[in-house]
Amino acid sequence: MTTTTHHPIAIIGGGLGGLTLARVLHVHGVDATVFDLEASPNARTQGGMLDIHEESGQIALREAQLYEEFLAEVHPGGQAMRVLDKHARLLREDKDDGTGGRPEIDRGTLRDLLVSSLPEGTVRWNAKAVSCRALGDGRHEVTLADGEMFTTDLLVGADGAWSRVRPLVSAATPAYTGISFVELDLFDAEKRHPGSAELIGGGMCLALGDEKGFLAHRETDGSLHIYAALRADETWLGSLDFSEQGAGAGGAKAELLRHFDGWAPALRDLITEADGPLVPRHIHALPIGHRWPRVPGTTLLGDAAHLMSPFAGEGANLALIDGADLGRCLVDHPGDLDAALTAYEAILFPRSEVAAQESVEGLDAIFDASAPKPLLDMFAQFDEAR
Ligand SMILES: Cc1cc2nc3c(=O)[nH]c(=O)nc-3n(C[C@H](O)[C@H](O)[C@H](O)COP(=O)(O)OP(=O)(O)OC[C@H]3O[C@@H](n4cnc5c(N)ncnc54)[C@H](O)[C@@H]3O)c2cc1C
Repeated sequence: MTTTTHHPIAIIGGGLGGLTLARVLHVHGVDATVFDLEASPNARTQGGMLDIHEESGQIALREAQLYEEFLAEVHPGGQAMRVLDKHARLLREDKDDGTGGRPEIDRGTLRDLLVSSLPEGTVRWNAKAVSCRALGDGRHEVTLADGEMFTTDLLVGADGAWSRVRPLVSAATPAYTGISFVELDLFDAEKRHPGSAELIGGGMCLALGDEKGFLAHRETDGSLHIYAALRADETWLGSLDFSEQGAGAGGAKAELLRHFDGWAPALRDLITEADGPLVPRHIHALPIGHRWPRVPGTTLLGDAAHLMSPFAGEGANLALIDGADLGRCLVDHPGDLDAALTAYEAILFPRSEVAAQESVEGLDAIFDASAPKPLLDMFAQFDEAR
């Protein structure tokens, strides 16, 4: 006879959202178990800088009682921002004077902070959920890739874009937004790529034109992390040669350079000089306003609930605040799971709809034929509203 373990609260996915939920519950003395498919917290580089917003991500980190620890890891100077055109002309520069509301942190550092704040054993690594089914009466059964099964009273889908939990509540699936990224890294930039380091500056730099551009960040380790981004058919990335760094004629680098013909040499150098492997990435999104009828015993958070393109910089912030809000709603409604989930979803749905709309507007501004003008206009409006 096989025995099935029971977990009162099972969180599928140990990304920023799932971990924040587990942490907020822990702070209030409630146990939960997080299941993540990765072999260990550092199995995959978590790369990229995230700006953590005052009105969402920072509130979540306070709820998680990790705000001071977060501040200690902020990247000084990281809130600086530049906007260039395709000729590398500087059209806007915001310096980081330390007073902005969106401090930057390395994604991996933030995740480590959350993981290390949880009691040993809270996160089960190497635990990929392969199927989930309703047992009736609000309970669910989850099967892991190694065949292990467990039941739970509350199943939380915090498992990102391609959530295995989402089908329990919704038939929606992410659709390609028409934007493809190629990720590039320039290591030890001050020493090895001084021209590029000077061009990008100390924080974020967007160089835009002709419905495409470079979205670049200075990382805390001194490297430059760049997304070369463009409107492309969904099959385009698959047609490129990413082997041997795609450096040869006809490889990914050459093909990418072809798309930036006529751009300033200093910008084309971001491709030519890239170190290490180039990484292809399609940008997908769920429909704006994605929601579902209340389903007993299960809910979603973060990308599983509202995957959106990254052009409003909200996804990680929403994952953090969703996790914190769900945790608080559960704590506020002890013994009444349905009331807790109803309260959480009443906050979740309108908030993510607004952010998803902003992401679409950000995408349209960045990938406009007259870029960077629409983005500069958008920033000018924000300045006026302040
Ligand atoms: C290129 C790019 C740039 C971005 N830049 C920004 C930015 O600047 N600012 C910002 O706020 N947001 C940004 N985002 C969005 C942000 O990365 C996401 O919104 C955020 O990571 C969502 O967090 P999450 O916890 O919901 O999901 P994820 O971070 O995707 O975490 C999901 C976790 O679930 C695990 N998992 C998945 N499937 C299973 C399974 N079946 N079983 C068990 N575990 C599973 C995964 O291993 C992962 O650890 C960007 C996204 C992209 C693609």
